[in-house]
Amino acid sequence: MPEYSSVPPPEAATTSGSLAQRLRGLLMFVDLPIKKKFLLFAGSTLLWFCLMTFVTVVSMSALHYRYHQVAEQIVPYRQVIETVLIRLQYIDQHLSLGNGDGMAAHTVIRRQLEAIRMSINELSLRQKRPPAEGTIVERILQNMAEADPEGVRYLQEILAQLETIDRSLEHHPRMTGKSRHTATADGSYAAAQGAIADTIALSKRHLEQISAKYTTIDQYIYKNIRNSIHTTLGLLLFASLLLALFTHWIIVAFYKPIKTITNQIESLSTGDIDLAKKVTIPSRDEIGTLSRKFNSLMESVYSMTIYKKVIEEDSSLEEVYRRLGEVFSNDLGLREYCIYEVNTPQKEMKAAYPPLVGDIRLHCQEDILSDCTLCRAVKTGHNISSFEFSGICRFFLPEEGVGHVCIPMMLGGNTGGVVQFRFPATGQSAPLSAEDTTRLFKAETYINQSLSVIEAKRLMQTLQESALVDPLTGLYNRRFLQEHTKQIIAGVLRRNKQIGLLVCDLDYFKQVNDTHGHDTGDQMLRETANILKSSVREADLVIRFGGEEFLVVLLDSEPGMAMQVAEKIRVRVEQFKLRVGDTILQKSISIGVSEFPGDSDGFWQAIKFADVALYRAKETGRNRVVRFTPEMWQHGDF
Ligand code: GH3
Ligand code: MG
Ligand code: MG
Repeated sequence: MPEYSSVPPPEAATTSGSLAQRLRGLLMFVDLPIKKKFLLFAGSTLLWFCLMTFVTVVSMSALHYRYHQVAEQIVPYRQVIETVLIRLQYIDQHLSLGNGDGMAAHTVIRRQLEAIRMSINELSLRQKRPPAEGTIVERILQNMAEADPEGVRYLQEILAQLETIDRSLEHHPRMTGKSRHTATADGSYAAAQGAIADTIALSKRHLEQISAKYTTIDQYIYKNIRNSIHTTLGLLLFASLLLALFTHWIIVAFYKPIKTITNQIESLSTGDIDLAKKVTIPSRDEIGTLSRKFNSLMESVYSMTIYKKVIEEDSSLEEVYRRLGEVFSNDLGLREYCIYEVNTPQKEMKAAYPPLVGDIRLHCQEDILSDCTLCRAVKTGHNISSFEFSGICRFFLPEEGVGHVCIPMMLGGNTGGVVQFRFPATGQSAPLSAEDTTRLFKAETYINQSLSVIEAKRLMQTLQESALVDPLTGLYNRRFLQEHTKQIIAGVLRRNKQIGLLVCDLDYFKQVNDTHGHDTGDQMLRETANILKSSVREADLVIRFGGEEFLVVLLDSEPGMAMQVAEKIRVRVEQFKLRVGDTILQKSISIGVSEFPGDSDGFWQAIKFADVALYRAKETGRNRVVRFTPEMWQHGDF
């Protein structure tokens, strides 16, 4: 990453969460999507509601069952048994007295026995199960209210005893109307009295049992009500606690991050913001996603701000292109790109970055370099994408599985440059992948951010060049040489090479002006400049030294090379014909040659020596090349 991208990637914040944090997130459901969180909240509330209803229904049912037992069994039993006891005691008294009207007593006892039977029958009816109908709750209660086996047994025993009493009384003399005592009569009397005593004892026992049962049920009801109240209160407390916790988590999960993000946005609008500061929300729900997206946005803004600051401080245009290129390849992963620089007045364009060395080559036809209007992006000023329309630009060299997107750099209303990106293409009309589209979007943002800086730098470069370049011929001027002398000398000395210096002066040039006018003179100067430039290598310098005098600086020249080049120039100038109206103009050139550091340790002295040689050439007839020799210089040290 370049130095301006000091912010770590957004993933770093999320993956660094400890195990405890992850576990906490899992328990607090922070990683669940918001919709699911609310569904869970509603679901658990409903569950609590159901649970509490269930507990209430169960405890109420149990209470109702016990109440039913008391109301339907115990209370009537007690009443009946108490009545039975009174009646039995009454019968017993009548039997014990053994006097009075026998028939009347018999009737009274029979009536009492009948009354007891009726009471017991009435009670027996209660033991029968109610019909299996009604609501579910009623049926559950019916099932719970099983027949009382003890009560049934008691009733059966009582009835059996009544039978015994009845039979005994059948044989009683007073009952039968016979008033004399017989053994049979006495036996039956005793049996009846015994049966009554047994029945009374049985009834008393059962009454005691029922009372005990009543006490147990009473305690049970009390305990049950108390437990129900405790359970309900406990559940309520637990549910309230969970609700409070959940509310707290919701506040933590929603309110805090939203507040933090809002604060950041507010600070952004006022400019009072630390762009490197992040909103740390590790949850994996929508809020977490929002914070990560926000961080990534802030990071982009931050990187962009720093990037712009850095390129503004970069000294040259080349550095800006290099920086932009590094962002493409290092930050955005776009390695297949080329930044073109367009020279609108000259209608030329050149690949500015990366330099075309090694494997890096042009992916467009070279024709666009000499005529930039052939480049569709330059011509239209629009993005040109082969993914939108395959084969959209016929100057892009077609390649299997490769598409291109060319983004024009608009500088002051003109296309000042083009950035070409190459992407893998899956098919003829397959669109650009989503990932590449995002990268391209980011790259375009960086390009747009760079435009103002590139424009300013280019303007500065033009101004600098205009001061160093001769406007008539487009050659460098003397000032350029003065500014770059150190650089030129250092390179040549380091490489242990020579510089060939050719001082060239057109012969009798004044005549051209005088005869054909100044414009023709200018034209001749331009043509001579072209001859000079085309006679040397790209790396060599051709300088308009003054008037119609030129200096050719041959870098890293081999011995003898300077003379050869000078001769070539002389011949070419001599052979050149300039048509002026009906006449043909032909001129010649004289050249003085020297070498640095061969002839002199001083660069400017070597130039002077070449000038001396030129003077000699002029002296000795012109249209010739003269190599400087030490005897030409009679003035001592330079
Ligand atoms: P010589 O062979 O001795 O060099 O003769 P010359 O006529 O070339 O003499 P000199 O070098 O002294 O003359 C230079 C002339 O070049 C003078 C000037 O009129 C002309 N000149 C200098 N600069 C320009 C220019 O920018 N345009 C035109 N048209 N002429 C120029
Ligand atoms: Mg001249
Ligand atoms: Mg001259």
